[in-house]
Amino acid sequence: MNYYEHIQTEDPELYELLEGEEERQRDGLELIPSENYVSRAVREAMSSALTNKYSEGYPGRRYYGGQQFTDQVELIAIDRAKKLFGASHANVQPLGGANANIATYMALMNPGDTVLGMDLSHGGHLTHGHPVTYISKIFNFVRYKMKDIETGEIDYDALRETALKEKPKVILAGFSAYPRELDWQRISDIAKEVDAVSVADVAHISGLIAGGSQKNPFEYGFDVMTTTTHKTLRGPRGGMILVNGKNGRGVNGADDASRAEDIAKKIDKAVFPGLQGGPHMHQIAAKAISFREALHPSFKVYAKHVVENAQAMAEVFQNAGVRLITGGTSNHLILADVFGSLGISGHDAETLLDQAGITLNKNSIAEDVRKPMDPSGIRFGTPAMTTRGFGKAESTQVAGLMIDVLTKRDEATVAKAREAIRTLAQEHSVPDSFL
Ligand SMILES: *Cc1c(COP(=O)(O)O)cnc(C)c1O
Repeated sequence: MNYYEHIQTEDPELYELLEGEEERQRDGLELIPSENYVSRAVREAMSSALTNKYSEGYPGRRYYGGQQFTDQVELIAIDRAKKLFGASHANVQPLGGANANIATYMALMNPGDTVLGMDLSHGGHLTHGHPVTYISKIFNFVRYKMKDIETGEIDYDALRETALKEKPKVILAGFSAYPRELDWQRISDIAKEVDAVSVADVAHISGLIAGGSQKNPFEYGFDVMTTTTHKTLRGPRGGMILVNGKNGRGVNGADDASRAEDIAKKIDKAVFPGLQGGPHMHQIAAKAISFREALHPSFKVYAKHVVENAQAMAEVFQNAGVRLITGGTSNHLILADVFGSLGISGHDAETLLDQAGITLNKNSIAEDVRKPMDPSGIRFGTPAMTTRGFGKAESTQVAGLMIDVLTKRDEATVAKAREAIRTLAQEHSVPDSFL
């Protein structure tokens, strides 16, 4: 079936590229832990007539007319998001995870205020105040780290001490390259002690939380969650901010609900008009569809398999003598010190595996001895391959092929792995529907 009929006749140049990407995704194996495949329904929403519509504002309070359908679309997305995460409020307009974070900082702080977040080299994200970002010039970012890289345990005592000393307005907990679960209760208690707003950036793991494979920070008193919608949550590329109505933080006689309402109001204002213009309503419709898919019982099974598959791959790597940062994984991703263990740089590992049809990324590891552009590690994960229906047996096989390629590094081994990957990919096409 040709999904690009009109592009094919009107713009053959672009058609070739889109078909190329379709084929790349079909025949190769996607192990980038922040990527996934969406359903046909989500893709249809992304190409719907809603892309033509301006809807600045919020349902019932828009700057333009003609909102009888868009209002309903956004309300449905909000309602499903709240249900999925047990939130009292959801803003589904952030265009991506970065926007969700920036809007949250703007909502909760004034320029110059302090944020306490995870060290970037220990798994934090660019938007957590990396010096190359504009946001790092506006707010003052201070850091906490792991206490033990071999187990991944965060240094919670140091986190608390830094919080007491720096008096941050926001304590940020979240990561893009950390394979373990955080002690949400501990961090939320510290935030309460220093009267900071607790924000969990669950961009990577929101699908695992929605599917019940990881703990929900809201159950441990976190105030706010920010997330992408396109990683483990398996929706369209986008972002979202959620507020907890039962944060246990009611102060000065005000109850939890009014604290949450106050935060929610500030967040809505920060997203629009503070940061963004018109919301992408086609994307919001696609979010609503993916939230419905995530509310379906089959999503629980998916989330469980994502973690099981990652653990199966981790085992193969460890049996081959590869050091894994934090000693394994409790979620969907693995961070392997290929330079320290196999003597191949993260960059070269990425290139070789790419030739074998396996897409992943080089990644810095904690206390890396190499430079960020040519680090020691590779990061990979199972969300996309699990969507294709891979189980433990296939995950073990893929990990075995990776080890083969990374240890032998000759053309014949790469070619053999490429064939095996193509066969696996062809046997496991992405389903049109997940329901
Ligand atoms: C991916 C990610 C983001 C940014 O999401 P974009 O949609 O790429 O802007 C923010 N925070 C964390 C922890 C992430 O992993």
